[in-house]
Amino acid sequence: MNQEFTPARVRFAPSPTGHMHLGSARTALYDYLLAHKTGGQFILRIEDTDVKRYMPGAEEELINGLKWLGIDYDEGPGKGGPYGPYRQSERKEIYLEYGKKLVESGNAYYCFCTPERLSRVREEQQKRKEPPHYDGTCRNLSREEIEARIKNGEKYVVRFKAPREGTTTVTDLLRGEITVENRTLDDSILIKSDGWALYHLAAMVDDYLMKITHVIRGSEWLPSLPLHSLICRAFGWREPVWIHLSVFLKPSGKGKMSKRESADLIKDGHSIFIKDFADLGYVPEAVVNWVALMGWSYDDHTEFFTLDDLVQKFDLNHLNPSPAAINFTKLDHFNGLHIRNLSDEDLAGRIRPFFEAKGYQPDHQILLKIAPILKERLATLDDSVELAGFFFEKDVKYSTEELIPKGLTKEQTAVILKESLKILSSVPVLTKEKDEPLMREFVEKSGFSAGQVFGILRIAVTGQRVSPPLFESMEIIGKDKVLERIDAAIKILD
Ligand code: GLU
Repeated sequence: MNQEFTPARVRFAPSPTGHMHLGSARTALYDYLLAHKTGGQFILRIEDTDVKRYMPGAEEELINGLKWLGIDYDEGPGKGGPYGPYRQSERKEIYLEYGKKLVESGNAYYCFCTPERLSRVREEQQKRKEPPHYDGTCRNLSREEIEARIKNGEKYVVRFKAPREGTTTVTDLLRGEITVENRTLDDSILIKSDGWALYHLAAMVDDYLMKITHVIRGSEWLPSLPLHSLICRAFGWREPVWIHLSVFLKPSGKGKMSKRESADLIKDGHSIFIKDFADLGYVPEAVVNWVALMGWSYDDHTEFFTLDDLVQKFDLNHLNPSPAAINFTKLDHFNGLHIRNLSDEDLAGRIRPFFEAKGYQPDHQILLKIAPILKERLATLDDSVELAGFFFEKDVKYSTEELIPKGLTKEQTAVILKESLKILSSVPVLTKEKDEPLMREFVEKSGFSAGQVFGILRIAVTGQRVSPPLFESMEIIGKDKVLERIDAAIKILD
């Protein structure tokens, strides 16, 4: 790592134009890790100059998303900091001033071409099979002409005066040197005719003023890198360390996720939007662990990381530029690992809302007792309701067919239930240590299999074929209720 830049000041600079997705979460996470690792700062900057694409609520969603992931920022909207404001919409004058500086130093120019003229130029370029680019008409206007046209009320934009000859070389930390022929560069617009700066200028000015040391972002910005680097150079600024992360491959293959695919994912219990993960039963610790490994690795075998581990172990040199697949099976795996890593108290608190959402009013003591027996069995937190709802039911429901196992008659099932009732009535309190040996003794003597006997008992007591371990469950439900449920099952068979 470049020691010169430690501690790092890094920024997550989303445009509030859509839902916060996995790609944004990964950028923000790496920003957070680098800042915390080096004792630097993690800055949230909202790039909201594109009014047309603005999505109401997006900024709030981003802030909540970061909070939920546990990667809160140090400076930014709502928190302030020494280099604010942190919303680009509040920095218009700053960009204008820096735009003017570039014009004065001969690195940018006023362009008066009308949209109609520009679209004609573009059409002609298309006919000639040339890539669309500005044809340079206003590149060398005289000072007098510029002044006269501005006085005349003509609209203008500010364009960057890209070099026409030679090459530009920029270094990306993951990809090494990237060289482009300058004749392929366009004179990009820096400030629009309404006085608003475009991203290219605004971001570079902000990165400079906010003393950003590393720019970590998606690889979709690689094509803009020469321009960004040239803007920094035109001002005479030291460039940040440029880091363009790998692209994400959507689960079904290459390319961006469509709206339809996102909707289908949700039906499947998955999503690429951070706002959905909590409701789908994922714990933020697992999402962080999963996302961290989509583009970074510690070694070739360690996969379980808490956020603190990641802060300790994160290293820019282990970032990987090759495409990262979104693998939801892996996420489920990490979710299970991190659920098992929670204390009983913590897990009890996290499963509660899922029971409440299904209309249960779960007792805290019972939640605490079921937490340890659920832990091993949960892929997602919402699985707990399906597995353990019976703890909070008055009675359990099932059909007679479900109660009678394959290969046994109704009468045999009734015998098993009656015997179990007798045995379980004989102990003062139900505890696994006491009842299990007694019940196993009965299985031995009866000639039925353990599967048959415990299967019947499981349906009678929990109403489910699959449940947490039977004896632990009966202990938690309590003797009275267990006997009541067995009695009810006997009555059904009668
Ligand atoms: N506003 C840009 C985006 O949302 C930021 C790119 C960057 O980090 O420079 O993609």
